[in-house]
Amino acid sequence: LSFSSCSLPQKLLQNMEAAGYEMPTAVQMQAIPAAMTGKSLLVSSDTGTGKTASFLVPIISQCACIGLGNPDCKKPWAIVLEPTRELCIQVEDQAKVLGKGLPFKTALVVGGDPLAGQVYRIQQGVELIVGTPGRLIDLLTKHDIELDEVKVFVLDEVDCMLQKGFRDQVMQIFAALSQPQLLMYSATISSDVEKMASSMTKSITVISV
Ligand code: AMP
Repeated sequence: LSFSSCSLPQKLLQNMEAAGYEMPTAVQMQAIPAAMTGKSLLVSSDTGTGKTASFLVPIISQCACIGLGNPDCKKPWAIVLEPTRELCIQVEDQAKVLGKGLPFKTALVVGGDPLAGQVYRIQQGVELIVGTPGRLIDLLTKHDIELDEVKVFVLDEVDCMLQKGFRDQVMQIFAALSQPQLLMYSATISSDVEKMASSMTKSITVISV
């Protein structure tokens, strides 16, 4: 399987090529086509395997297709939750590289930066929110963000998030969404991770690489 057989927008393929992505990695080969069909996924994969692009590519591709015909769509279309601010910054950086020149804007929602700047950026209209659970809840509670158009909800490092006690916050955010596609990533798929996944959706496809 190659990237060009995945029916991705030409500009996205060019951005991937410019970033040095020649062949899909193992996790990308499985997760990209499955995510593109709208399935919810529970993926076991480690950092360094190309997992970030495996969720960003389907999101950017779908945003590009929708955004082109719908320039007024301003509410976030996808959320990526990460356990730390540093991971959020890395994911957003990769999203910017892959989404360059496409109708795809991102906002970071993390602690440590002033809230006002993040709210301003969101209100200008972004397709993707990359954030930590705590700061996103702050914005939700203050009604600074509307999540009713979110179609894709990515939970990265789920095992780590459960250890850090993010479970209730994740569920609170999930409750504000209307049945999005779920893309869950975890280094190990423990029974806690499985329990969480099955409490969120009836049907999940497990991918282990
Ligand atoms: P990750 O596992 O998401 O942390 O990605 C590890 C690194 O691999 C990142 O620096 C990506 O830019 C890079 N990467 C992701 N997919 C590919 C690919 N198909 N070919 C080459 N490098 C890639």
